[in-house]
Amino acid sequence: MVRIGTRFRCVRLFVALTAGLVPVLLQAQSDSTPRPKVLVIATGGTIAGVQSAPGTLGGYRAGTLTAEQVVTSVPELSRHAVVEAEQFSNVASTRITPTQWIALARRIESVLNERDDLAGVVVTHGTDRLEETAFFLYLTVRSDKPVVVVGSQRPATGISPDGPINLLAAVRTAASPQAVGKGVLVVMDDRILSAREVRKLYQRVGGFSVGEMGMLGVVGSSGPEFFFSPARRYGLRSEFDLAGIDSLPRVELMFSYPGGTGPTFDTLPDGVVVATTGFAPGEGAPYRELRRKGVVLVTAFPSGDNVSGVPRAAAPRADSSSSAPPPDSATADSTARAERAVPSSVVSQHLTPQKARILLMLALTRSSDPRELQRIFVEY
Ligand code: ASP
Repeated sequence: MVRIGTRFRCVRLFVALTAGLVPVLLQAQSDSTPRPKVLVIATGGTIAGVQSAPGTLGGYRAGTLTAEQVVTSVPELSRHAVVEAEQFSNVASTRITPTQWIALARRIESVLNERDDLAGVVVTHGTDRLEETAFFLYLTVRSDKPVVVVGSQRPATGISPDGPINLLAAVRTAASPQAVGKGVLVVMDDRILSAREVRKLYQRVGGFSVGEMGMLGVVGSSGPEFFFSPARRYGLRSEFDLAGIDSLPRVELMFSYPGGTGPTFDTLPDGVVVATTGFAPGEGAPYRELRRKGVVLVTAFPSGDNVSGVPRAAAPRADSSSSAPPPDSATADSTARAERAVPSSVVSQHLTPQKARILLMLALTRSSDPRELQRIFVEY
């Protein structure tokens, strides 16, 4: 009995000692372990939003807190990384334009390539245009280091803001060696999503999805865990070089719909992306006319979910394709012959129309040959 009691006391003593020691040891370890450096580049958005009546559910002004304020409001960041903050802009994301995409991509690429000490970059951004900026960065930032775009659905001064926890998860992801080479990522609500697939669904916490393509990973209690990586071209393997590019070709976005009569333009764009599952008869002539005038036509499903195959040889689709503008039935034969004389439309695969537009803007900086453009839409 005495021996059992002694042993029991010894176990309790050991537990008590180690219970006290473990946090001290962890603390000592985290103090002495060099932490990765992460640069947070702030653009504005709800994550930097402030309400006139803080702590309410009411309206707010996006892009109000500074980069420094957003970062220092999350002291937990310092447990995972040495975080620096930089203000790129402080606006609601509906004010972000392609000019800012170019400047932001250049800034990220140069800072990642010039600073060996930097593990990765986090971009804080409004959610309205987050997926477009993220996809542009995905196609243009030529670095393997992690770039993570993050936003929030609730303003910083609102009830239960989601910005701080999203920022923490984003910084942990940008600091993680696992995130290297995975392309630009979006982290919302502890989910790691590829910039190629992510889309905003609704104004609720976590309101982004990648649909059937699935998350790349999650940010768990012990940090980011990846399950997949994107297979197509991006980042270091991208051919899009922004050097010497100050503006992008003009690409318009149109919808095709039952009874549609197609668009008319006062000044012709360089390209048009049409959200369509198949053209209405009245839409054929105006779209054929655009093609004849040299405007590049890309078709994308309105849902962005089209996965129909495009030949690897990157031949433009035959005009019998449902995504090609149809001939008017009365003149079908002669028009079909004329069709062969003009370039066919390029088919986008599993891209929302707004992302197909971004890819076309960049693709047109390389070529306006439909076969080459189709190759690009197959590879990215
Ligand atoms: N509602 C937006 C957001 O969630 C505002 C913006 O996009 O800047 O951040």
